Amino acid sequence: LFITYAKNEKMEAVSHVAASLVHEVRNPLTAVKGFLTLIRESPLEREKVESYIDICSGEIQRTEGILSEYLSISKPITEKREVVDLYHQLQAVIDVMRPYANMHNVHLDMDTAVGPIQILANQDNIKQVLVNFIKNAIEACTNVSSGAVTLRMEVVTRKALLTIKDNGIGMSKEQVDRLGSIYFSTKTKGTGLGLTFSYQAIHELGGSVSVRSVPQGGTQFTITFPVLKNENISDHAQTI
Ligand code: ADP
Ligand code: MG
Repeated sequence: LFITYAKNEKMEAVSHVAASLVHEVRNPLTAVKGFLTLIRESPLEREKVESYIDICSGEIQRTEGILSEYLSISKPITEKREVVDLYHQLQAVIDVMRPYANMHNVHLDMDTAVGPIQILANQDNIKQVLVNFIKNAIEACTNVSSGAVTLRMEVVTRKALLTIKDNGIGMSKEQVDRLGSIYFSTKTKGTGLGLTFSYQAIHELGGSVSVRSVPQGGTQFTITFPVLKNENISDHAQTI
């Protein structure tokens, strides 16, 4: 049952995000096309040509990276656990979600840089959880004039703390109480499965979710994950 919900929500989330990705991939393609035309049509110094080629391959690489991240989010769910770098996964998910944020005119930002945070989890599940929360935060800001989603990650006493803050529509107390229950959605095209899956996945890892929300004032989710005890991780990454 759990797997079925996860798959449905996954397809739903993934198809929304795909539309914005397709849109955004056109920009680097247009840039590359422009530089290629320049290189072909105008006499340029060798140095200029090289710098244009570097810009092109940079754009292509970035696009490739985002697309393969996107594909990994749409992979089928397995329960296998592995060592996952939560910080790295978050950055990859931010890259994938940025076009979606842009499409909704929402500023998406990470305001901390911590370094690797290792947890024991299923990597695909973790990505899907991150997508679900970030996607909801962006959607909550849809009709806000300067919508912003701010992410923060830190490690406190062997727990990774991720906060996802938005200045969107917020929730009433009744709505907050229903979070995570199956099919609860206030959206016309919502499934009400994203948080059901996410809460379940987080609890299975021994993590927790808490929420503070003000109607019309925004929402802040705080998610904790137990950090893997690993002597190879520097103290810095563990205790910031
Ligand atoms: P869906 O996004 O398909 O509606 P979710 O399970 O992802 O389903 O979310 C359930 C409901 O929780 C949403 O419909 C919305 O009412 C509420 N919600 C979740 N995150 C936020 C948020 N950041 N701000 C306001 N409401 C939210
Ligand atoms: Mg959702």
